[in-house]
Amino acid sequence: MANVTVVGAQWGDEGKGKIVDWLAERADVVVRFQGGHNAGHTLVVNGVTYKLSLLPSGVVSGTLSIIGNGVVIDPWHFRDEMERLKKQDVVITPETLAIAETSPLILPLHSELDGFREDRSGDKKIGTTRRGIGPAYEDKVGRRAIRLCDLAHIDELGPRLDRLIAHHNALRVGFGKPPVDREKLISDLKEIASSILPFAKPAWRILAEEQKKNRRILFEGAQGVMLDVDHGTYPYVTSSNTIAGSAAGGSGMGASAVGFVLGIAKAYTTRVGAGPFPTELDDEIGQALGERGHEFGTVTGRRRRCGWFDSVLMRQSVAVAGITGIALTKLDVLDGFDEIKICTGYKIGDKVFDYLPPYYKDQAAAKPVYETIEGWKESTAGARSWGELPAQAIKYIRRIEELIECPITLVSTSPEREDTILVKDPFLG
Ligand code: IMP
Repeated sequence: MANVTVVGAQWGDEGKGKIVDWLAERADVVVRFQGGHNAGHTLVVNGVTYKLSLLPSGVVSGTLSIIGNGVVIDPWHFRDEMERLKKQDVVITPETLAIAETSPLILPLHSELDGFREDRSGDKKIGTTRRGIGPAYEDKVGRRAIRLCDLAHIDELGPRLDRLIAHHNALRVGFGKPPVDREKLISDLKEIASSILPFAKPAWRILAEEQKKNRRILFEGAQGVMLDVDHGTYPYVTSSNTIAGSAAGGSGMGASAVGFVLGIAKAYTTRVGAGPFPTELDDEIGQALGERGHEFGTVTGRRRRCGWFDSVLMRQSVAVAGITGIALTKLDVLDGFDEIKICTGYKIGDKVFDYLPPYYKDQAAAKPVYETIEGWKESTAGARSWGELPAQAIKYIRRIEELIECPITLVSTSPEREDTILVKDPFLG
């Protein structure tokens, strides 16, 4: 049985929530494998909107959901998100949700450090979500992290907490901030432990069992390929690998488990936070894309930057993330434009590039080379078959496929689950 891995193919916010939820209905297990509560997934089911940051989208439909070891977990946020969903009648129990015991925790000292750095960075800000994601991953790799399994042994944590706190205090001195309150941290950990420990499980083992039973596993990526710490627009990236390959390592499964890789891409491009964005539009067209597409961040409420579809970046994403098929979202936002542009190359100085070079100054200087196609006047909103799409919209989709060298296997035409044109079922490979 084929598994499916969903990744964002641009800078995040591609509309993964809807697609994952739609796939989750037919999956037996949904797995988050990287990132943390910096993600913002909006699901609209039967007209009801659910906002998720940390929890896998499967929780809404009651599908077995796993948070893998590659995710960094803020236990206080976890409790808040669960409580918020409970008010919307979404019931989450240790039978329907497991969190890898080995997941590193995001502590208050991590979000504080994230904020201190951003506040100090002036115009060099990354524009992070300030949720402590980067600092938590630093401590994981630095072998200082407190992990979920450690919450069952808080009284034995002393020397490890001291090492972690000593590291943070040294940084805090540099920022002119008071040292970490050790006793408060311990009492906060003791207070939160009972809310999250019932969900702590050997996730790798549950997944191995599910795999043996030939169950369909859906891996739910967060952020997007261009925010990948290795392959993205470094240093304006998140601190995890967002590509499909990390689904295996971030959940404790072998590489062959990844299966069909569905890349989600908007029919245009957005970015939230700082960093290069060659097709960004500062004019009324960018404004119109933002307004029609309701482009505000789910997590931070920040206005997203908007621009034309960038086939150069997308072709790069397809290659580095191993994308098998694309789900194209928000096509209806382009309805009514006289003409639509697609970026097909970058001009940097007097050279033309067919990929985004890695040096940050080159990335910042990249000027898009555009191809223009005629737009369409009809509405594509809510279309559920090719027959309902105007000929020009189909032409646009076909041209994108050609340029990014990857088939479009699904088109989403509204936030509603049913407003989808399915070309190929990813579960059937
Ligand atoms: P961090 O992940 O909070 O460290 O933020 C690093 C960068 O990734 C910033 O530009 C954020 O705006 C961006 N980012 C993080 N999570 C998301 C997301 O879910 N969607 C879009 N951008 C994100």
